Amino acid sequence: MDKGKFATKAVHSGQHPDPSTGAVSVPIYASSTFVFQNAEQGAARFAGKETGYIYSRLGNPTVRALEESIAALEGAEDARASASGMAAISTAAMAICKSSDHILAGDALYGGTHKVFTDILKGYGVGCTLVDTSDLAAVEKAIKPNTKLIYIETPSNPLMKLTDMKAIAKIAKAHGITTVADNTFMSPYLQRPIEHGVDVVVHSITKSLSGHSDVVGGAIVGTKAFLKAMDPMYKNMGATLGPFEAWLTLRGIKTLHVRMQRQTESAEKIAKWLEDHPKVEWVKYPGLKSHPQHTLAKRQMDGFGSMMSFEVKGGVEAGRKVMNNVKLCGLAVSLGAVETLICHPPTMTHAVVPKEDRIKAGISDGLVRFSVGIEDIDDIIADLDQALAKA
Ligand SMILES: *Cc1c(COP(=O)(O)O)cnc(C)c1O
Repeated sequence: MDKGKFATKAVHSGQHPDPSTGAVSVPIYASSTFVFQNAEQGAARFAGKETGYIYSRLGNPTVRALEESIAALEGAEDARASASGMAAISTAAMAICKSSDHILAGDALYGGTHKVFTDILKGYGVGCTLVDTSDLAAVEKAIKPNTKLIYIETPSNPLMKLTDMKAIAKIAKAHGITTVADNTFMSPYLQRPIEHGVDVVVHSITKSLSGHSDVVGGAIVGTKAFLKAMDPMYKNMGATLGPFEAWLTLRGIKTLHVRMQRQTESAEKIAKWLEDHPKVEWVKYPGLKSHPQHTLAKRQMDGFGSMMSFEVKGGVEAGRKVMNNVKLCGLAVSLGAVETLICHPPTMTHAVVPKEDRIKAGISDGLVRFSVGIEDIDDIIADLDQALAKA
């Protein structure tokens, strides 16, 4: 996509001046309910015969602006904002799968998603098979007659393994299966799964979209028909986002392209620097020529992103020393924001994933995940350098 056009959408899509006051910034409509002009109007709104707001769990003007913004950035018909990324993922999955249906999902899932798919939904009769979705033959083979959902994270967290979205969408379509992609890692600035044939995109807007580590929220993006079919689940299970979080995210999105451009630029340089460092065993970053799917990365992404993982020579102990000695980089989970963060997936983000599944997926005990922020790159490298010297 033309990045100039993307930049304009990031600043303006959904974010129209307030019609009643002319306010440039979308107001925070902190109102749980909305007054009807008369009983007939209230009835017409509930019947869906007239558009307009009723009650904020069902729709709110600030939240609506965010939904329009995210839909425009993903190149989708529409979107729904939710209280968290996990609310988005579980709502989408529960709208697609009913009792006795089956989910086919990547084997290196986000920890919360792993829990919902392999444990919680099992209690409601939904089966799940985890498979390496970068292996197309394995995906084909794992499809069952009752498979309703193929769920992918590309690049995967934290191994940065890519899934060929076009190929997966083609396989899914041939079997009448809905494809859902978690696009949290890349953000729509770097990757738009719908352009590759994926049906539904889910986001943790907690990460790059809000971008300032001050929001927990999510989004479900897709066709109007899909979202309409999902609405009873979304509205009645109560996954709705609040207007203040929506506003913070709208504010963050205005600089998404600027932040992601800088973060990606710095990440590329840091990944190369780490790869050449004598204390580093390996680095996984799609922008490195050593990444086995570098060519696919160039084909389906507009940039290589701000995320990488690496292993310090000396395994768990050495990795722990690096994490305990960084001064500028924050030792915290979450990612994609302006602050550089470092974390240990095996004991943190993926602690809920059984060790057996984790090791099978390649998430070794010594793996460190790194999210590059917008600080001065020389300062980030200097911080890593002094921490690696102590490992
Ligand atoms: C953080 C994250 C989630 C969960 O989002 P929450 O906002 O914490 O609920 C899901 N998927 C990925 C890839 C994430 O990074």
